Amino acid sequence: MLSTRAKRFAPWSASKIQAGLRCSRLFHYRYVDRLEAPEIMAEMEVGKAVHSVLEAALKGDSIDYIIRKRAEMLTPVDKKRFLRLTNEVGSFKARIAAFRRKNNVQKLLVEHRLGISSNFSGTTFGKKETVFRGIFDLGLVWDETNMAVVDHKSGVRFAMSSIGEQLESYAVLAMTHFPKIQKIWLGVHWVAQGELEWTTQVTRQHVNNNFLPRLVASIEAAALAVSDGPRENPGSWCQRCVYRSVCPSVKDTMFEPVDDGDEFWDDTFNG
Ligand code: SF4
Repeated sequence: MLSTRAKRFAPWSASKIQAGLRCSRLFHYRYVDRLEAPEIMAEMEVGKAVHSVLEAALKGDSIDYIIRKRAEMLTPVDKKRFLRLTNEVGSFKARIAAFRRKNNVQKLLVEHRLGISSNFSGTTFGKKETVFRGIFDLGLVWDETNMAVVDHKSGVRFAMSSIGEQLESYAVLAMTHFPKIQKIWLGVHWVAQGELEWTTQVTRQHVNNNFLPRLVASIEAAALAVSDGPRENPGSWCQRCVYRSVCPSVKDTMFEPVDDGDEFWDDTFNG
C-alpha cells in the first residue's frame, strides 16, 4: 500500500517519479501548479509527431496524410529530422506484421492506457482511485500467456539500463491488467535506427517479487523528495527543461552542468 504522502501526489507515472526524484521544482511546476510550459523543446515536438505516425501505422491507418500534416507544423530543420525518422516506420510495421503472422497474437494494443488502484488492482487510466498509470506505445499478447511491451524512443539512443524503471513499471501494469500473462518481454524501439532492443524475458513471479516493490519504493522516494515544496536541483537536465526560462536557478546551471555523466531517462524531456 502507498503512504498517505504518496497518495497525495497520485496518480504517478514513470516520468512523474523521475521528475520528482530529479528536481522538486520541476515536479511542482509540471504536476502541482500545472504551469504551462513556457518553452517548447524541438525534440519533444518531433517525438510527438513521430509517435502519432507510428500509432496510425500500427492501427492500420494511412500515414501519408498524418506525415504531411505533422510536417507542416514543424520548422524546416525539425521537419527534415521528422521525415528522416518516419522513413523507418514502414519497415517497423512490416516486422510487427510478420511477428503477428508467425505467432498466435490475440491482442495488439496501441497507445494503450492503463492504471493501478491503491490496492494494486487494475483500473482505468483516468479514474480518481488510480495511483499509478502508464501508456503502452505497443503491446502484443500471444499464446494466451506471453506478452511484449514496446516503447518508442525517437531521441538520441542511450543505455537500456537507464530506462529500466520505466520498463519495469510497464511490466507491473501488464501483470496487473492481464492475469493470464506469465512471461513478459520489454522492448525499446529506437526509431532513428529502426531497431528493437529487448530485455531478457521476465516471469510474473519476478515482476511481483522485484519490480512491484521497486516501483512502490520509487514512488515513496519521489513523494518524500517533493513533499516539502519546490526546491531546485540543478543539473545537466536543466538544459532540456521546459521551465528553465522561469526557474530561479537556471542562470547558474545552463552553461555549467553539475552532473555531466547523467544518462537517466526522462520522458519529461525526451519525448
Ligand atoms: S531548470 Fe533545472 S532546477 Fe530549474 S526546474 Fe528545471 S530541472 Fe529544476
